[in-house]
Amino acid sequence: MYKARLFASKHARAYEAMYNASSPVILASLRVLSKIVKGKLDKPITWAEKKTKGFLFDCQMCGNCVLSTTGMTCPMNCPKTLRNGPCGGVRANGNCEVKPEMKCVWVEAWNGSTKMKHNHKIQEIQFAVNNEHKGSSAWIRLANEDVKAK
Ligand code: SF4
Repeated sequence: MYKARLFASKHARAYEAMYNASSPVILASLRVLSKIVKGKLDKPITWAEKKTKGFLFDCQMCGNCVLSTTGMTCPMNCPKTLRNGPCGGVRANGNCEVKPEMKCVWVEAWNGSTKMKHNHKIQEIQFAVNNEHKGSSAWIRLANEDVKAK
């Protein structure tokens, strides 16, 4: 949903606060739940993530979420799926060269990041997206990575 994306970028500060407050709770809950219902979390959590983030961010379920580093703007809506800034084809009005009716995802990402408290994160270099994770839950991946890191 294009409008959701524009809204998230415009209200990136509030979304950042929501993300910072909710993500530790979500990840902690997932770790507890995964111990109780071993191996049965993937389907329902992937469904919930798809619905929630689809509604809020037009999430494309890449499985490697970088929203907090891209001005709360999902980079996977870029027609070229660029994750480290725009291509050279941004139009003079800030729109996309592939979809002229759409604001460049990276213009929105930059605008969003300027509103965020941790706005330096947009300078971080992102790894190429791992397409093996497409369609899977980034929440579950993050919860598992947290466990491994401890
Ligand atoms: S970066 Fe990936 S997981 Fe995050 S909102 Fe975009 S498609 Fe969804």
